Amino acid sequence: MQQITNHLPTAELQALDAAYHMHPFSTQDDLAQSGVRIITSAKGVMLRDSEGEEILDAMAGLWCVNIGYGRDELAEVAARQMRELPYYNTFFKTSHVPVIALSAKLAELAPGNLNHVFFAGSGSEANDTNLRMVRTYWAEKGKPNKQIVISRWNAYHGSSVGSGSLGGMKGIHAQGGLPIPGIEHIDQPNWWAEGGDMSPEDFGLERARQLERKIDELGEDNVAAFIAEPVQGAGGVIVAPETYWPEVMRICRERDILFIADEVICGFGRTGQWFGSQTLDLTPDIMTIAKGLSSGYQPIGGSIVSDEIAAVIGATEFNHGYTYSGHPVASAVALENLRILEEEKIVDRVREETGPYLKEKFEALVDHPMVGEAKIVGMMGSIALTPDKGARAAFAADAGTVGYMVRERCFANNLVMRHVGDRMIISPPLVISKGEIDVLIDRAVQSLDEGMKAVKDAGLWASA
Ligand SMILES: *Cc1c(COP(=O)(O)O)cnc(C)c1O
Repeated sequence: MQQITNHLPTAELQALDAAYHMHPFSTQDDLAQSGVRIITSAKGVMLRDSEGEEILDAMAGLWCVNIGYGRDELAEVAARQMRELPYYNTFFKTSHVPVIALSAKLAELAPGNLNHVFFAGSGSEANDTNLRMVRTYWAEKGKPNKQIVISRWNAYHGSSVGSGSLGGMKGIHAQGGLPIPGIEHIDQPNWWAEGGDMSPEDFGLERARQLERKIDELGEDNVAAFIAEPVQGAGGVIVAPETYWPEVMRICRERDILFIADEVICGFGRTGQWFGSQTLDLTPDIMTIAKGLSSGYQPIGGSIVSDEIAAVIGATEFNHGYTYSGHPVASAVALENLRILEEEKIVDRVREETGPYLKEKFEALVDHPMVGEAKIVGMMGSIALTPDKGARAAFAADAGTVGYMVRERCFANNLVMRHVGDRMIISPPLVISKGEIDVLIDRAVQSLDEGMKAVKDAGLWASA
């Protein structure tokens, strides 16, 4: 049997990686200089690297390993499914047991009238599906002009041509001719950074009403849908003021447009309910899913759509699909992941026990001299770094300079915590225990202390 070698010295692995492997969202040359950290195995919330270090993964990989690492059941299910039926497509009047069972399970878990699933291999692909699906929906309803999708600046919906355009990341738009036509962006509800003198409540309303003004400006007859993450993830875990979502829902109901909730991070327990839409009381017409759907053990994504959309799309041939839509192994693994989340009451525990425990400890970080705000919903949280809390000041250094310095301290202290600009974010596996939460917080505080000292030593403790 072929073995993927794991016994080469770290330096050799790093050299091979630098020579042959291109990393997503990275500057290859910098990586080649610094050398990547080689992760070799993982269990629960802990990663192990090629030097034998144990690292607490407060990001659950990329927001996805909800049930934690090392669950044998998923490996068993995958092996069994590979032996029985490793692959078959669902394009040509065929289906198979894992995809049927998974679809029915998702229809049961999803709120309201969301009962039909179109599968993809990833969140990006699923959002590409959504873009085509909502436009096709309106065309089939005799409104072919309803084509524009409204999104938000600093949203993340993937990095393919379609989903990268739906997202509002300027760095993504800057490369490869994005965004494609027919997508419009409004401002995000990030009160800390953009709220100025307004109260969070007034600011939330004002940002929601941008949606209304944008629809009116474009003409309701030209707008297909609004897409948004219930809590922005990759944008820095931005929790909207409480006034924001009720107003957005009112606008979507009054105007005849569809609402797509991108649940790729918020779904499958991350916010303490099965879906972020339930936590925030949203009523989407489509939910994008991926990541926690399989806890990252297999690549799979999809769109859960309403009865109404399924009925309209169902009346025509939808010329869309992926070779791996509803892949049997990925579907079987996702189903087993959902079983574990449900039977072990992991979502309930996040809502009632470990989530509140983490919230108390995490929000207390706001007492640290470099932390301006600390926000957390379920198990996704962020802190804003600032040299002047009272003024909600940004650092004078380029955004991300200070965040990166703190992230480097976290890495050195065996804690994976990411930075987005000068916000530090966490999204740990949902199975994290109270004891492990204590370790997470201790390492975060130590990293903040060391980071603050490093920032001061570098002469960067200054407001913009
Ligand atoms: C990660 C992510 C995506 C893209 O998913 P991929 O599987 O990486 O393509 C889309 N939307 C949100 C909210 C995400 O966090």
